[in-house]
Amino acid sequence: MSQEDKRLIVKSGNIFDSLTGSTLFNHTVVIEKNKIVWVNSDDDFAKEETDQIIDATGKTILPGMVECHVHIYASGNPHFEREYVRTKTDMYHYFALNNSQKHLQSGFTCVRDAGCYPGIAPALRRIFDTGLLAGPRLVVTDKGIWQWGNQEGVSPDPIINFDRENDQVLAGVDSVKHAVRDLKYRGANYVKTATTGGVLHGMESKVSFTLWTEEELEAIVKEAHRNDMHVAAHAHGKAGIVKAVKAGIDTIEHASFLDEEAVDLLVKQGNYIIPTQTAAMSLVSPALMQIMPPEIQKKTIEVDKQMKISHKLAFEKGVKIAIGTDAGTPGNYHGNTGNEVVLMVKDVGMTPVQAMQAATIGGAKAIWMDEKIGSLESGKFADLLICEQNPLENIDLITNYKNFSHVIKDGKVMVEKGKITYFSPLQPLHH
Ligand SMILES: [Zn+2]
Repeated sequence: MSQEDKRLIVKSGNIFDSLTGSTLFNHTVVIEKNKIVWVNSDDDFAKEETDQIIDATGKTILPGMVECHVHIYASGNPHFEREYVRTKTDMYHYFALNNSQKHLQSGFTCVRDAGCYPGIAPALRRIFDTGLLAGPRLVVTDKGIWQWGNQEGVSPDPIINFDRENDQVLAGVDSVKHAVRDLKYRGANYVKTATTGGVLHGMESKVSFTLWTEEELEAIVKEAHRNDMHVAAHAHGKAGIVKAVKAGIDTIEHASFLDEEAVDLLVKQGNYIIPTQTAAMSLVSPALMQIMPPEIQKKTIEVDKQMKISHKLAFEKGVKIAIGTDAGTPGNYHGNTGNEVVLMVKDVGMTPVQAMQAATIGGAKAIWMDEKIGSLESGKFADLLICEQNPLENIDLITNYKNFSHVIKDGKVMVEKGKITYFSPLQPLHH
């Protein structure tokens, strides 16, 4: 029997049941290949001769966490504009690999990329899926679908032309339908778009303004859903959020400016919001503010302040929330998503159990992965974390890499106490 055919047993731990929020004491997880095949009380566990056993006595077992919003190619360099002109395009493949691994090291076994240079994210997903390199499960949009008109380009022409080539400038129902089908062909799992301007774009990129027409947005959603893809919209201002929700977009990214009316609509339609508070928190730090252009400083301070108010209101009223950081934006380094989980407790008002549900089953539902991940159940992928100390008793522990004695993805122990220990096996020659 080869190493890969042996069952992996995580024995006698205390399992966080993300579906109910309760803890199942002294339970054992049996893994065959990349799937969980059995979860039950220790008393009912029958050992087999060849089992590989990890003793989790007294430890907490969590489902692998889900990070719903990162830009995997971008490293979070505060001098992002300088990096942009001093980096060869092919280098972004390696940045993406390195950044992905940081998520895995910090307990996030599934990561949704929210927009990348063409080709990078789908290719990396295949590399990780085949077990060639240690990395999280990726859910990707490739290059997304952009309206462009409500952003102001602020770069030299060669860069604007490069972006234009990569991003596709779209208008009209047929044009967006074509783009959705093209994304599917390119290996996207879902469609990312934007219904407002962004914080880092030029002065004329107002976060309150929204450009797509209702018809265009509805066409994106319909075509994506027909292709079994969900849709995410970057949306800061209320008008763009409301338009996205009405069009049936599944996840609202940032959701910075919410009022009672917008929140009621979100509750009614059942969309998820992905707060990305870490992005604003990183930008408003004095070190980052100093080097940002004045118009970005002004927008950021406003967005950071409003986000906290909006997300708290949303949570209190029952809007569904999943975890995402927007890692890759300036000062927002990959591998710190635990920080966002803590912010959900400290700023938004979740209990640690609710925050951990948002980080596991909530994220899985938001990105249409809940039949495969998000809870520890027979039939799901074997993505789980063994914690020395229980983060549900002290949520700050979720930011501590070293507290994860094992990060298991696809049934393979990939990380031990923050260090990657998985490498694809050597293949023997045939004689
Ligand atoms: Zn983003």
